[in-house]
Amino acid sequence: MARTGRCLCGEVRYELDGDLPPIVNCHCQYCRRAHGAAFVSIAWVPHSAFRFTAGESSVTRHTVGGGYRCFCTICGSRLFNGQTSETGFITLIVSTLDDDSHPGPVLHLNLESKANWYSITDELPQHQSFSREIIEYLKAVRSEDRC
Ligand SMILES: [Zn+2]
Ligand SMILES: [Zn+2]
Repeated sequence: MARTGRCLCGEVRYELDGDLPPIVNCHCQYCRRAHGAAFVSIAWVPHSAFRFTAGESSVTRHTVGGGYRCFCTICGSRLFNGQTSETGFITLIVSTLDDDSHPGPVLHLNLESKANWYSITDELPQHQSFSREIIEYLKAVRSEDRC
């Protein structure tokens, strides 16, 4: 059964096929500023697994550099990010999912631009920036038995 998600106002709705990949807490300066938050929980999902079921015409795509961020034009909720050069994957904003009974984050990413005022208090691995090592780690987590 597909997972479902929506923006805050409910205008934009989507479905996501397949397993939810490992979740990462991204502390990069772009996520922090775009969300007005200390960090954002994201998951790289195949673009082909994502489809809008309502309100696609209300989605605005904000492009900066080589990437874009999609959000609801009415309520401003961010839904996913992507690369303008199609990689086959999008970065889903995990908090837009309807069902939050997933295992939660597996690591912290982009500590190099973490907010000074926020302290990480859990034991999850911390990475300064994105790297090949992280891709391999996430692949390994994904292949384990997850919900
Ligand atoms: Zn909305
Ligand atoms: Zn980020």
